[in-house]
Amino acid sequence: MSGNMGRLQAVQQIVNRPPVKISVPPTHLEDIWAENVFDLSKMQASLPKTVFKSIKNTITTGQKLDPSVADAVAMAMRDWAMGKGAKYYAHVFYPMTNLSAEKHDGFISVQSDGKVISEFSGKVLVQGEPDGSSFPNGGIRDTFEARGYTGWDVTSPAYIMETDNGSTLCIPTVFVSWTGEALDKKVPLLRSIAAMDKAANKVLKLLGHSNIARVNSSCGAEQEYFLVDASFAAQRPDLLLAGRTLFGKAPAKGQEFDDHYFGAIPERVQVFMQDVEETLYKLGIPAKTRHNEVAPGQFEIAPFFEAANVASDHQQLLMTVLKNTAKKHGFMCLLHEKPFAGINGSGKHVNWSVGNETQGNLLDPGDSPHDNAQFLIFCGAVIRGVHKYGPLMRAAIATASNDHRLGANEAPPAIMSVYLGTQLEDVFEQIKNGTVTESKQKGVMDLGVDVLPTLTKDAGDRNRTSPFAFTGNRFEFRAVGSSQSVSGPLIVLNTILADSLDWIGNRLETELNQGLDLDAAILTVLKEVMMKHGQVIFGGNGYSEEWHKIAVEERGLANLPTTADALPYLKAEAIEELFQKTGVLTPVELESRFEVYAEQYILSIEVEAKLAVSMAKTLIYPAALSYLAKLTSTMGSLSNLGITLDSQVAQSVATLANQLLTAANQLKEALAKHDFESTEAKMQYCAQTLRPLMDQLRQSADALEGEVADNEWPLPTYQEMLFIK
Ligand code: ADP
Ligand code: MG
Repeated sequence: MSGNMGRLQAVQQIVNRPPVKISVPPTHLEDIWAENVFDLSKMQASLPKTVFKSIKNTITTGQKLDPSVADAVAMAMRDWAMGKGAKYYAHVFYPMTNLSAEKHDGFISVQSDGKVISEFSGKVLVQGEPDGSSFPNGGIRDTFEARGYTGWDVTSPAYIMETDNGSTLCIPTVFVSWTGEALDKKVPLLRSIAAMDKAANKVLKLLGHSNIARVNSSCGAEQEYFLVDASFAAQRPDLLLAGRTLFGKAPAKGQEFDDHYFGAIPERVQVFMQDVEETLYKLGIPAKTRHNEVAPGQFEIAPFFEAANVASDHQQLLMTVLKNTAKKHGFMCLLHEKPFAGINGSGKHVNWSVGNETQGNLLDPGDSPHDNAQFLIFCGAVIRGVHKYGPLMRAAIATASNDHRLGANEAPPAIMSVYLGTQLEDVFEQIKNGTVTESKQKGVMDLGVDVLPTLTKDAGDRNRTSPFAFTGNRFEFRAVGSSQSVSGPLIVLNTILADSLDWIGNRLETELNQGLDLDAAILTVLKEVMMKHGQVIFGGNGYSEEWHKIAVEERGLANLPTTADALPYLKAEAIEELFQKTGVLTPVELESRFEVYAEQYILSIEVEAKLAVSMAKTLIYPAALSYLAKLTSTMGSLSNLGITLDSQVAQSVATLANQLLTAANQLKEALAKHDFESTEAKMQYCAQTLRPLMDQLRQSADALEGEVADNEWPLPTYQEMLFIK
């Protein structure tokens, strides 16, 4: 197919494409809710009482699993799954890449007499051995042993994944080396929760509580994504291989009118969303809000918050469901942070809080925050953590794709700061300026602090430009990328909170031992936190030039614009100490993470650069030449008739085509460099040399798109991809 024939056919197809028929949504959500999940109620119905009691205890309190119950659970799980048509089971795990991985096995077992039975024992449920060699391990398995093992995570329920070609029982697992090193994102998440629980417990005891349930962290993630029709996507090698467009001229109309955000959801998209939601409900994932996003073709889905470990598994599952369902509806779902240059990108706001059953949400101010010492302590601990470990938070969201978005005036800057809202910021300012005396408390109250919870929950008081904002009863980490696993950010947040709570606990103990009463001790310690770390609080415009200057020069905060700048922080001594002290990651595990993330960064930029060269040479350059040939032959024919045509267009196409070729060759040459003294140097090369060369190549390509006749242009345009649904 030459020129835009493919494009035109795609437009025809899409315009005539009816929404996919889906089953009529049931009137009662309860009818399908969690029907594909082997949850507590299904266990209760199918397990002997003592077994159920034991496993429930493990799930709710995090106590060690009694190995003797595994066989009974495995049998019940298998019967349930086979009753729903599953013939296979899969241990699902979460390697250090942002993906989910699965190893599928049949329930089938061949016996010595040749007969076949279905089998699934406790041993198989508890431990699996996937061929781990294809997963990046950052050197861990080279040093130790080649195999990796999966281990059943009892606290995250097993579920059935339905496809048109059958169902599979999926079992969430951890993935470790045989010497016990974490090769995944789940192990450190579980450890970070344990560390946070321990430190929170210590502080809560000092605050006078005696009945303290296990403290867990919660996560509610808001997922942004784009939908592009599959017929267009199939014609864009960049969307297929890199998940984003490497070329494409900005459309005459973008998101200026905000008409997409407030507009009705297109019918095909709405049916897609319904289908997604139905699948999620069956999987026990509480999808709650859905709406259009800022950019044309961009949407959001936000499940209700859940315990961090389950929320994290559900978030991975949600991304899979989005992608699979999109295929079924003739769309491609783009989870990339910046699929279209110049158009709003996608993030994943991670709403995070900590709490337990006895004390409730520890980040909830209650009715009178100045009295609510407990809240101020936990909030102060977060402030200290963000200030002390800002670069680590930046590193936790550092990917090649998220770099396109951070600091681009649509997403938070790469500088980590905390937004508290006017009232709370004022409370902390008063704490910093001296002990809050009776009269000063009144002063605080005069400022309307009594209504603080209501006020901060008001969207009007929200600061959209902050990477990390307090939003009434939780913090919202807004700089997280749309394609990322939420585990990384959650691990870091839990760990820095654990560290701060531990420090605060120790300081409180010292003050109490020296004779201060509890209130005075709390104020002393919080004042110290504010003196040392208060400069991380910022309520102004995070997008402004001014903030970038003040943050770095006056407040000493780090601005790490690229992943190449951020990732090396994982090797800093303070970070190694933090993870070791809290028991979340050993130095070897941390080092391996640096290696894996760095490799991913380098690989993804190299793949994009290679692809850019090839698209420029084999698609765009030929289109320019073919148009030039038509122009010049027309000019020749006309001049035979004595008519001369202005040669400006031909000139400009020729110039741009030459520029394109030069830029492509430069990039190709740059890609050939292989001698780097370190991983860090190679990352910097990607950020400082390859990326700018790709931008340069893109400039001539996009300019050509504005000159070459539309019917010669080989790639679906931004306008088509964004506006035709
Ligand atoms: P907005 O778009 O205004 O930021 P949404 O309502 O779209 O807010 O999403 C807010 C997310 O925060 C939801 O996933 C919600 O369940 C979650 N959330 C609410 N309260 C908490 C909490 N205490 N801890 C963690 N997440 C929470
Ligand atoms: Mg939000």
